[in-house]
Amino acid sequence: MEPSKLIKENIKDDVITPFSLGRNSVRGRIFKSGNVVNNILSQHEYPEKVNVILGETIALSSMLGSALKFDGKFTCQINSDGPINLLIADFKTPGSIRAYAHFKEEKIIADTRQLLGNGHMAMTIDQGHEMENYQGITQLKNGNLVSSAYSYFQDSEQIPTKLFLACGKVKYYGQKEKWISGGIILQKMPNQDNQTIEDNDLWNTTTHLLDTVTYDELIDLSLNAEDLLYRLFNEYDTTVYSPIKLKHSCQCSKNKIESLLKSFTEDDIEDITIDGNIVIKCEFCGKDYKVKR
Ligand SMILES: [Zn+2]
Repeated sequence: MEPSKLIKENIKDDVITPFSLGRNSVRGRIFKSGNVVNNILSQHEYPEKVNVILGETIALSSMLGSALKFDGKFTCQINSDGPINLLIADFKTPGSIRAYAHFKEEKIIADTRQLLGNGHMAMTIDQGHEMENYQGITQLKNGNLVSSAYSYFQDSEQIPTKLFLACGKVKYYGQKEKWISGGIILQKMPNQDNQTIEDNDLWNTTTHLLDTVTYDELIDLSLNAEDLLYRLFNEYDTTVYSPIKLKHSCQCSKNKIESLLKSFTEDDIEDITIDGNIVIKCEFCGKDYKVKR
């Protein structure tokens, strides 16, 4: 990856910015999205509590998916027995994201505590054409996305990882209030042969410094990635790479819907048949598909 020549271009919205610290032994990404996240969340019209956690899932999926070294898809799926049953955020390289949630409305209103109950978090990497999918599954930890992601990295990838996620509504002067989601991740690169004591020290120090990042900094669109990195790690050698532009796009198509229908039972098909047509809605983008029975 080439170090960024765009540093002074000041891109702040809908970007994932990769960076490294020290001698490349610690790598990271910063995610910040206003337009795209606001677009996805506004379109679904979910309760605010669901928006917050779906916005954070989008940040997580985008930061992990944008690290793929090949063309493919990264999906983070969370299933739980809590008020929110399902969260899916689907990232396709180089920068497309889509997401949706399922929840029990009455429980969301009544339950002010934990929205995710017991369940699991699955991370799936789809490399496309005839390649086997890779999937890592971990138990949900304390109904918390970040703790669950840590146990995923511990169980599946064994890469020391530290991350923060945030999503909230922000109102900028003269603009309508909008949803903004942000995140930052640090990972210690698994390069055992060359790992030095300094690299371990760097990891320990920089993860402590990362603890000082605030919720406001993560969702502040006026603060670009370079400035945030300077605030956090100014004493360390920071390299910023070309940012990845995020966009909201769904990859649904009639062909994909038709092949999905093959996995449905006769009864399922009966339930969604209207006047001889199977009617099915894409849960990601809300588009209706009609297929002749
Ligand atoms: Zn769609």
